[in-house]
Amino acid sequence: MQDKMLKFVKVGMETPTKRNTEVRTKDFKEIYNKFIHEKAKIQSSRCSQCGVPFCQVHCPLHNNIPDWLKLTAEGRLKEASELAHSTNNMPEICGSICPQDRLCEGNCVIEKAGHGTVTIGSVEKYITDTAWTKGWIKPIKISKELNQSIGIIGSGPAGLTSAEELRKLGYQITIYDRYDRPGGLLIYGIPNFKLDKFAVQRRTNLLKESNIKFKQKFEVGKDITLHELRKKHDALLIATGVYKPREVDLPGSNLKNIFPAMKFLTASNRKGLGDKVEDFDNGTLNSENKNVIVVGGGDTGMDCVRTAVRQNAKSVKCLYRRDRENMPGSAREVFNAEEEGVQFVWLSNPKKFIGSSKISSVLVEKIKLGEPDSSGRKKPEPIPNSEFEIKTDMVIKALGFDPENLPQLFNSTDLSVSELGTIKVNLKTMETSIPGVFAAGDIVRGASLVVWAIKDGRDAASSIQKYLENKREKNIKAA
Ligand SMILES: Cc1cc2nc3c(=O)[nH]c(=O)nc-3n(C[C@H](O)[C@H](O)[C@H](O)COP(=O)(O)OP(=O)(O)OC[C@H]3O[C@@H](n4cnc5c(N)ncnc54)[C@H](O)[C@@H]3O)c2cc1C
Ligand code: SF4
Repeated sequence: MQDKMLKFVKVGMETPTKRNTEVRTKDFKEIYNKFIHEKAKIQSSRCSQCGVPFCQVHCPLHNNIPDWLKLTAEGRLKEASELAHSTNNMPEICGSICPQDRLCEGNCVIEKAGHGTVTIGSVEKYITDTAWTKGWIKPIKISKELNQSIGIIGSGPAGLTSAEELRKLGYQITIYDRYDRPGGLLIYGIPNFKLDKFAVQRRTNLLKESNIKFKQKFEVGKDITLHELRKKHDALLIATGVYKPREVDLPGSNLKNIFPAMKFLTASNRKGLGDKVEDFDNGTLNSENKNVIVVGGGDTGMDCVRTAVRQNAKSVKCLYRRDRENMPGSAREVFNAEEEGVQFVWLSNPKKFIGSSKISSVLVEKIKLGEPDSSGRKKPEPIPNSEFEIKTDMVIKALGFDPENLPQLFNSTDLSVSELGTIKVNLKTMETSIPGVFAAGDIVRGASLVVWAIKDGRDAASSIQKYLENKREKNIKAA
């Protein structure tokens, strides 16, 4: 045992404990267990109604949290749901997957006082799930149809939110998406153990019942150019997200069984949705019985390690070049992964992928943290002659995402983008360099969060409304 422990210290892993040496095969602790009414009431009653609602300030949507907690504590769930929906188009989705420890709950006054946060996200989900069950959530009723139309490219949370807000005002909406199902990363990125896909589907079904048109498997840039689409509508919104995986350019990168995170997660999500996925069914993208290495310590990396655990991988290791304190992923996610038996190899970087045709091991170098870089985080520096090898059958690269080259893809060189490739917008109006074309979500911010995509979708809808009202007024004057 002593030798074994020394070996782990040597290679930079945490000392093995009962907690992190075995991959669990059952009894997973999901982030949110089923929340019952009594629990929701108890949690809601814990809110001190402190009068300095830091939770609300730190929620990107500035949800009226204290008030809907009060209504829940009083059993007035219908009103609580209406209030929750007044600022958020997908409260149950945010309640499930927002990193609350960094947002509302992390700033709860009770948490700060050391008594444990009010579980705001769980209550938000509970209120909205109850509203769905009771039939309180209904398709949009339009008082007056308008004859102006808006094309929305992308059916992720930014596109869906904008579509809903604009439809409420009576506009004619068509959403175009290259995937076969609406929902963007809510469907094919975020794993189903974190977010029940049914919750996404009932939202998109509601929008269909509200007469929003969906054109799936329709790729702007391939099936139509941006300017051709612009001519079909009075305004456009680009909400295409960011999908180009960041690469590690290392010797052996072309070996078999090294995959980008989205390929692995999409296959798993498709299986969960009941699709036939050849590469999963023939074992290629299935990590069952394999020794898996995930490279990258962000939230996508955490989703990959926890998906591999659920696929019954033999072992799952996460390589990350910084330490626990400097990890970009949510602390709660790291904790959950460790609980499930994932081993974190902190301060380590892959140097070479080794194998004949398939990957068989990764040569890893140890890292020390130097002075802070421009981002304020300590700079990782390789330690000379510190290399060691880890055996593996499958490597998943989860190093983040960049935007695709949209001006090229859309055949629109007049679409201005930043150095990083994100679309440049007027920050007040969210209008791009092309008049009448707006943008929202990850394609403007870079890879971010669902709650920010919803916020952007709402803001873009409000600007599009103003733009179209202006256009109507001008037409009336000209007539
Ligand atoms: C693995 C993973 C896990 C995540 N987990 C979380 C989490 O737990 N919590 C959280 O808050 N956030 C999470 N995120 C981030 C979150 O999913 C995104 O910030 C959010 O989905 C961005 O929304 P969006 O509408 O801008 O783009 P997306 O959700 O990416 O949607 C963009 C849509 O545009 C479509 N599209 C792209 N190009 C074209 C084109 N040319 N023509 C037509 N359609 C096109 C795509 O098919 C897609 O449907 C996660 C991200 C990933 C990758
Ligand atoms: S939307 Fe997210 S940050 Fe805002 S209250 Fe809900 S869970 Fe918290």
